[in-house]
Amino acid sequence: MRPGNTIFSGLGTTIFTTMSAMAMEHGAINLGQGFPDDEGPVELREKAAQAVMAGPNQYPPSMGVPELRQAVADHDTRFYGLEVDWATETLVTSGATEALADCFLALLNVGDEAILIEPFYDSYLPMVEATGARAVTVGLEVPHWDLDLEALAAAFSDKTKLIVVNTPMNPTGKVFTKAELQGIADLAVKHDAYVILDEVYEHLVYSGAAHETMMALPGMRERCVRIASAGKTFSLTGWKIGYVTAAPDLLALVNKAHQFVTFTTPPAFQLAVAWGLNSGLGQGDAYFQNLATDLEQKRDLLSKGLAAVGFDVVRADGTYFVTTDISGLRYNGTDLDFCKEITSKAGVSAIPVSPFYKPSEGGLGIPRNMVRFCFSKQPEVLEESVFRLKRFFG
Ligand code: PMP
Ligand code: GLN
Repeated sequence: MRPGNTIFSGLGTTIFTTMSAMAMEHGAINLGQGFPDDEGPVELREKAAQAVMAGPNQYPPSMGVPELRQAVADHDTRFYGLEVDWATETLVTSGATEALADCFLALLNVGDEAILIEPFYDSYLPMVEATGARAVTVGLEVPHWDLDLEALAAAFSDKTKLIVVNTPMNPTGKVFTKAELQGIADLAVKHDAYVILDEVYEHLVYSGAAHETMMALPGMRERCVRIASAGKTFSLTGWKIGYVTAAPDLLALVNKAHQFVTFTTPPAFQLAVAWGLNSGLGQGDAYFQNLATDLEQKRDLLSKGLAAVGFDVVRADGTYFVTTDISGLRYNGTDLDFCKEITSKAGVSAIPVSPFYKPSEGGLGIPRNMVRFCFSKQPEVLEESVFRLKRFFG
């Protein structure tokens, strides 16, 4: 067999698929891959079902149905004070994953550099490298995920074409402060770089923290591409409805890639999500607050429970993930070994953080002591998980 593409043929299976399969095999509670353990809001599923039956079910417009694009523009005005022209500044994609790929394909050339902040979501690196660009990484400080702006400044060069900023951030649960975003924005302006804003967890933010979008900072409107996802906002990860906001010329570029990556996205789901964004599932904007309130209780439940087991829990200000330092548990192995061991022996699955780093010579600079747990699960499932871990660690 002739060799395939050098980037993709060298890759393994994603850590999420690997750990979910292992959880299944051992009948473990799956706190690994990030997804809620219920079916998602019934009102939204009914809307989608009605839309499937009523049609249309043939190709919708490539950039998305007007109803959803208008809803996205309206959402961005309500929550961030952004003025958005839906017809030239919004795009619907098949999940945020597609939107990210579209951005990399549309903006990067061989010889360009893209800055990724470690630990980063797993799709960024292969998709950046597949364009022939080089990923330059900067690690947040372990275990509290502080950003060293000087280190970030040193990562920029005259080849830097873009930086990806994921806030609230997977896997760390970090919500970047306005001051941090301003610091990154200043560097982007100085080096004339685009900023890809992965804001899929925009509505999953807890007391004491606030989500800010860099797009709303002075001078940043034209160089940012903002990406969000109904998968997170409506707890429907399988629907794969993403949406993008960017200034007209930049959006047009991203759309050049989109039209050949997926061309379009199932119309019934788009119509249902449009209704969800506009109406907050009939609850108005209280829906978005209630989502966060519910998840904050779950975060507290799991964080307290893990701390009682002996994990050093890092406070999660956003997302539905909490990271923990396992050093205090006196385990003699890597984060991956640890996750495999608790899956097979304690009956609880989690995700190691080291796969969210760019591989390096000898694994240099990659922490092996951090493990991520997902808390978007029923309270009794979280309680049972803590019970099992306590039993295992004695
Ligand atoms: N970015 C981040 C940071 C994520 O956690 C996820 C969800 N796995 C995505 C992008 C992809 O979102 P979607 O499921 O909408 O493609
Ligand atoms: N975003 C999810 C997570 O971080 C995983 C999505 C996937 O499996 N590709 O757990």
